[in-house]
Amino acid sequence: MNPHLLTHDTAADYLDGMSRVSRLVARHLDARAPSTGATVADLAPLVEGVDLDRPASDLDAALAEVTDVYLRDAIWFHHPSYVAHLNCPVALPAVLAEAIIAAVNTSVDTWDQSAGGTLVEQRLVRWTAGRIGFDEEAADGVFTSGGTQSNLQGLLLARGEALRASAVRGDSASEVQPRLRVLATEHSHFSVIKSARIMGLHPSAVIPVPTAATGGMALDALRHELEGIRERGEIAMAVVATAGTTDLGVIDPIPAIAGLAAEHGAWVHVDAAYGGGLLLSLRRRHLLDGIERADSVTVDFHKTFFQPVSSSALIVRDAATLTHVTHHADYLNPRTAVTPNQVDKSLQTTRRFDALKLWMTLRVTGADAVGEMFDEVIDRAHQVWEVLVADDRFEVAAEPMLSTVLMRYRPDGVGAQDADSLNPRIRHALLDRGDVMVAGTVIDGRAWLKFTLLNPQTSLEHLRGILETIAATGDQLLAALRDGAGAPPQEPDPMDEVLLLVGAEVAR
Ligand SMILES: *Cc1c(COP(=O)(O)O)cnc(C)c1O
Repeated sequence: MNPHLLTHDTAADYLDGMSRVSRLVARHLDARAPSTGATVADLAPLVEGVDLDRPASDLDAALAEVTDVYLRDAIWFHHPSYVAHLNCPVALPAVLAEAIIAAVNTSVDTWDQSAGGTLVEQRLVRWTAGRIGFDEEAADGVFTSGGTQSNLQGLLLARGEALRASAVRGDSASEVQPRLRVLATEHSHFSVIKSARIMGLHPSAVIPVPTAATGGMALDALRHELEGIRERGEIAMAVVATAGTTDLGVIDPIPAIAGLAAEHGAWVHVDAAYGGGLLLSLRRRHLLDGIERADSVTVDFHKTFFQPVSSSALIVRDAATLTHVTHHADYLNPRTAVTPNQVDKSLQTTRRFDALKLWMTLRVTGADAVGEMFDEVIDRAHQVWEVLVADDRFEVAAEPMLSTVLMRYRPDGVGAQDADSLNPRIRHALLDRGDVMVAGTVIDGRAWLKFTLLNPQTSLEHLRGILETIAATGDQLLAALRDGAGAPPQEPDPMDEVLLLVGAEVAR
């Protein structure tokens, strides 16, 4: 038998392997850029070239191979010039906790596979519930793989409650299900629509509620939709309030939404996957006022709590509502099983002990320091927004509430439509080089570049530098087009459908 197969053959093997791996990772942590710009064409042959039926000669050879196929060209979220998606640099105590989690391999589903791990997770669930403002004794929840799963579970519980209420009135589930409706703005996360589809709800079950000028859910529109649902004999199963939309970082008006939902007997799910970090903020906690009126809340620790993927939770106000996902299996969690028993509350069975990462972070870094890191990146977003407002080469979206900033490069003489094709091309040119990574999005048909700031080490000077890089790249692209030398992208790219940067404005 291969003596290196199992972790616990010898402690010496473990120490040797871990130190090799940590030295390897440490060598890569000083990455000069967030990306090497490696393409699929660069990497696919390396991955395909590995013979999976024959192991490498030894651990070092396997690690060298991992470096080739992955590590050298990995995307580094902790690099200050990575300002693209909602990915965070990670708290070191949480990374250390990952080592413990992997080696012990606890599964937090039943007590007999977890013991103290179950209690640690439950304690953190209660702690998060307390931060939300729920009654800690009445509330409950469970860690999940991410906001997508947390949102799905929140909506499953909402449906469970809607069906239960209908059953009391004598209506059957099959008759009620097609009438269930979910209300959310078009800026809510796509996992809301996906969840409705997974749940087999009516194809038009998710009703998009228009937004007000602030970008948040328009309350008169919500009232109108709720009344329409009632008049049509449909059932308002849930209202989803987003606390931090993925693109604009907008927080829906939670207290007023909760009030209207209550009038119509609808479950309130707050998707705080992004804004959840405000629970720890010393300066901006008030932005989440009213979240304590939710029935369920999604919090993504792997975004604004600086945790490694994956780490998320669904927290519910009333523990009893979690029984909508309970099933008693004779081999695992019969009614006579030792409780607490987290599998009764989860969509998953075998489940990682992700909670230990947050635990270690709170015990070493501390909750206030985590909240301050989120506050700092929000400060930075306001600062760079002011820089953009004063720079007439750029258009800028509304002042951010959280840490995303939307801008488009549109120097003098470039029309709005031309800017729609220029900005995605800037983004792709930056991706090809890898030294700066920004995101892109489309709002109301207009193409924008997006900074998502989650790294406290990204200074205002870094951001000014990134803006200059964007401008210089934009100018190069414009010049190339004027000279008729606009090289087409190497691979067909759906973002570049509207590549034609034509028109007198650009030619000047
Ligand atoms: C990121 C995000 C999600 C999805 O969370 P995952 O952890 O990526 O599954 C849901 N809602 C919002 C608002 C998000 O920003």
